[in-house]
Amino acid sequence: MSVKIIPDRCRGCGRCLTVCPGDLIALDSSLAAIKEPELCWGCAACLKTCPYEAIALYLSPAQGGRGLKLTIKKDGTTLFWKATAPDYQTVIVTDSAKAKDY
Ligand code: SF4
Ligand code: SF4
Repeated sequence: MSVKIIPDRCRGCGRCLTVCPGDLIALDSSLAAIKEPELCWGCAACLKTCPYEAIALYLSPAQGGRGLKLTIKKDGTTLFWKATAPDYQTVIVTDSAKAKDY
């Protein structure tokens, strides 16, 4: 499991820094960066708080995650989770009615 910042989406707002329970995220040249990725335990707090969908959580095949990439889109206070396979096919979206815009 690993968390990655998507640089072209990050706007450097700093919100993810304030919610990481391990204090693992810092700003580097106005972009979020995971300081010690090996210490991340995949709680997804940073994904949930980022307003710009700039963080992705990868589930490794070794952990039964098939290499899926998890991202979250916010609609008001509702979070919609999206799982994308390595071949870019969306395999899971928590609300199919909302998936059209995702
Ligand atoms: S919350 Fe999102 S946009 Fe803001 S610094 Fe973190 S990754 Fe970047
Ligand atoms: S998934 Fe959790 S532990 Fe990992 S960087 Fe994000 S907030 Fe921190």
